[in-house]
Amino acid sequence: MSEIAQNLKKIREEIPQHVKLIAVSKTKSVEDIREAMQAGQLAFGENKAQELTTKHEALPDAEWHYIGHLQTNKVKYMAPFVAMIQSVDSLRLLEEINKHAQKYSRVIDCLLQIHIALEETKSGLSDVEVVQLLEHPQLQDMKNIRICGLMGMATYTDDTNQIHKEFRGLMDLFQKIKHNYFSHNDAFKEISMGMSSDYHIAIEEGSTMVRIGSSIFGERNK
Ligand SMILES: *Cc1c(COP(=O)(O)O)cnc(C)c1O
Repeated sequence: MSEIAQNLKKIREEIPQHVKLIAVSKTKSVEDIREAMQAGQLAFGENKAQELTTKHEALPDAEWHYIGHLQTNKVKYMAPFVAMIQSVDSLRLLEEINKHAQKYSRVIDCLLQIHIALEETKSGLSDVEVVQLLEHPQLQDMKNIRICGLMGMATYTDDTNQIHKEFRGLMDLFQKIKHNYFSHNDAFKEISMGMSSDYHIAIEEGSTMVRIGSSIFGERNK
């Protein structure tokens, strides 16, 4: 068994059935991704629009998730095929996704990215901003996007209490939003949290989707 296949097997044994595994393949080769697919992995995550498009062309049968910061002018490249955009951080971006999804008669699944970390460099909406977005009247007109939940990245730290606290905060916000805005909408059900260093904690705190890169494919070249 290849190293990638072994890593996948080990991770699948560790995570519950209901938690979806997104294999983060950024910077990794098409050959590496193909190996993961042969080991039964279908969903992959990328954080650059160009790289996502190139890899989709090479491997159209994979399910592609976009997890990086997205500029509005790049939406058009992924609109025909992207399975989920997990990093939506503005109404303007949602509007653009909606517009391009409409051209392809698609409904694109989206997650709202929430800023939960101490690091300012990590992006995402604040608790106040996400409420403003959800209460914006324009949102009701966007028929070609589906808001499926929230995504967040915890602080990169050894302090596991801090990580627990951040993921718990995201879970609390998810529950509040679910109750206030999506109580009759079954699509709003995903909490995408947990990466190689913290997915065990994320799962304890209720993650439904983990995004794991280096523990599957090995360290990335910077
Ligand atoms: C790179 C990345 C991951 C995966 O990180 P690893 O530490 O390699 O598991 C997860 N989520 C996002 C948003 C990323 O950019």
